[in-house]
Amino acid sequence: MTLHIGCHLSASKGYLAMGKTARSIGADTFAFFTRNPRGSRAKAVDMADVEAFRDFWKDPAVPLVAHAPYTLNACSDREEVRDFARETIASDLQRMELIPGNYYNMHPGNHLGQGAEKGCERIADCLNAVLRPEQSTLLLLETMAGKGTEVGRTFEEMADLLSRIRLQDKVGVCLDTCHIWDGGYDIVHNLDGVLAAFDRVIGLDRLKAVHLNDSKNDLGAHKDRHEKIGAGKIGFPALSRVTCHPALRGLPFILETPNELAGYASEIGRLREAWKEG
Ligand code: FE
Ligand code: FE
Ligand code: ZN
Repeated sequence: MTLHIGCHLSASKGYLAMGKTARSIGADTFAFFTRNPRGSRAKAVDMADVEAFRDFWKDPAVPLVAHAPYTLNACSDREEVRDFARETIASDLQRMELIPGNYYNMHPGNHLGQGAEKGCERIADCLNAVLRPEQSTLLLLETMAGKGTEVGRTFEEMADLLSRIRLQDKVGVCLDTCHIWDGGYDIVHNLDGVLAAFDRVIGLDRLKAVHLNDSKNDLGAHKDRHEKIGAGKIGFPALSRVTCHPALRGLPFILETPNELAGYASEIGRLREAWKEG
């Protein structure tokens, strides 16, 4: 067993370039935006690049964790915004099948004052329209910090949302350490308790990936501003305990810290060094 860890990489030069970059910094997984993060058109797929990547990245130990544009809002109060989210997610899921068996992570959405329940209903409508029984990609819903009207700010909200999805085996959860800390879950002093609550409310079997980030803000700040590992309010020891926790064994850990490649390489190195089987 080893720690599966990587970081968010730029997709601008294609899959093979990301794979090579990941290897060069000691990563055995990585994340990337499926298109411009602000959610515009996707570039045409370069099949030669896809094949070269599959050849290079063979026998992956753990899935990649792609990220949907963060401006999509599947639970907007405006129909055209919901339509755009649905069409974009459907087309991204199709492209994900070119690299089968990986994860596609999305922010649930912003209910914009309609209330979390209405938000969950609309997001589930969207996902029930796009998920396909034959897809090999698992769609992950990311736990949010609770900034503004974000849906997914509590484990209860996430459980409500998940329960509304028809194809249960096509959805899972991605836990973002900065977001849940900002959301009020004290992973510094009570990691066991937070994970027990996750298990009770959602089920740890639904947890498929972790976004490993420090936070610039205090517990419960509902802000969502990521910090480098060890430079924020969560701190290195607590984040290292997250990577070592037996309940999280084998999951892909993705860094989304404010770093250039060298910074990511050093965070990966430090976390690998501190890693031991919990
Ligand atoms: Fe995210
Ligand atoms: Fe995240
Ligand atoms: Zn964030």
